[in-house]
Parts: sequence; structure tokens; C-alpha cells
Amino acid sequence: MPVECLSINGMEDKEEIKRVILSQKMGTQFYIAAAWNNAVMIFSLGVEAGLSEAEIQTVIIGPKRRYVYCMKCFEVSEVKEEAEIAECDHCRASLEIGPFYSIVREGYIGYPFIPIGKEEVGS
Ligand SMILES: [Zn+2]
Repeated sequence: MPVECLSINGMEDKEEIKRVILSQKMGTQFYIAAAWNNAVMIFSLGVEAGLSEAEIQTVIIGPKRRYVYCMKCFEVSEVKEEAEIAECDHCRASLEIGPFYSIVREGYIGYPFIPIGKEEVGS
């Protein structure tokens, strides 16, 4: 199986990445080995170019980062990789981190909820 390797330095290589992705045959597997920000950038370009997530394998070099997009105040907060819930850095809402990643918002959709024990007294 022929293998093509493309080394990139970052956002400035965006057009080159797009060109390579678009020149591939159907069914080509993409392997991304990059630091988190670059991997997200390449992954997004791949999806934009019509690749399915199954066609892209990703190896993250260095720490992973994850972001959650707050549905209450519409701001993005950084969260721990394994977190299922988080607190919004901006409006302090408790967020349940959903399975949907928004490329536009660059984060997982976070659904506000009222944590047990924190309900307002008397309500
Ligand atoms: Zn918020």
C-alpha cells in the first residue's frame, strides 16, 4: 500500500494539507500524528474536505486538551480530558459534556444542569 507522508509546521500549511487531502483516492486512510492544536486543525480540514471520522486515525503528541462550549453563556472553557461534567469558567454553570463536537465552536457542547445539593432552597 503506498504511503505518503506530509510534515507540517502549523496553520501556515493549511492550503498544502487541503491540497493533499483533496488529491487522495476514496478510502484513503489518514494518520495524523501531531500536538493537540494541530491535530484538531488537520482533523477539521479533513472533515471539511469530506473525509469521514473513520478514515482518520489520530495520534496525539503531548497533552490532550478538551474544550466545552457552554449552552448558557456561549463561551468555551478548557476541561480535563476524562471529565464528564465541568463547570463553566465564565458563568459557573454546571455542564454535562455531550458527545457532540462543534467544529464551529471548537468544543464539545455542554448542557447546563443543576447539580444535586445545589438546588435553590425553597424552590
Ligand atoms: Zn457559561
